[in-house]
Amino acid sequence: MCWWNGAESIANPPTSRSVPPAAIPLPDFLGWQEAFETSPVREHVRPQLVMEGSRGCWWGEKHQCTFCGLNGSMIGFRSKPADRFLDELSTLVRRHQILDVLPVDNILDMNYFRTVLPAMADLEWDLRVHYEIKSNIRTDYRRGPGFLQVKDMRDPAAAARMIIDDGALGSAFTHCLRPRRLPDLGAAERDAVDVLIDERLVLRCGDLVVTLPNRMRRWPVPAMSV
Ligand code: SF4
Repeated sequence: MCWWNGAESIANPPTSRSVPPAAIPLPDFLGWQEAFETSPVREHVRPQLVMEGSRGCWWGEKHQCTFCGLNGSMIGFRSKPADRFLDELSTLVRRHQILDVLPVDNILDMNYFRTVLPAMADLEWDLRVHYEIKSNIRTDYRRGPGFLQVKDMRDPAAAARMIIDDGALGSAFTHCLRPRRLPDLGAAERDAVDVLIDERLVLRCGDLVVTLPNRMRRWPVPAMSV
């Protein structure tokens, strides 16, 4: 950090050690929010809660991208415990009454798929959260004769591939590629959709359900490796 001490320019020496995630403080936006509420730009800016769940990058530790701007000595990934992050999220949302959340993490902690993200969904708040993720974290499917192959890479630590060869499940899967209203589905199709929801292949949002995997026409080789 460079700063002025009167007319004297001072450059702090770079730190040689990283800040532990638990020592990263909770931001205080109260002064900013007060100023924002009376600002003429208020009509043109959508306020977001800027948070920090982690620093560094677990991917960059192994293969730092050539365009990455992270300092090599600070690239080691470290993240806040899930409970701490959820507590901070809850505190900020209640305090500022803002539902758009912008974690500035370089990359999403994969453990958060099992901890933070389901807990956020359980809150049943209409949060809109923008996370940076690695681009191959996705789920895809392709069609075969009487079956579907699904490849789920959302959690690289627990990547999965599956075959859907049950007619009712396959039919519900393809029917819900366009969002459908649950009350419009028949009883048998609803049962099939419930199974797909349990497998995290269909997302339910209120009365709407939609299939999550994308159709991939050209699969990387080897096609079903995970
Ligand atoms: S994923 Fe992002 S933070 Fe990680 S090494 Fe690549 S550019 Fe850097």
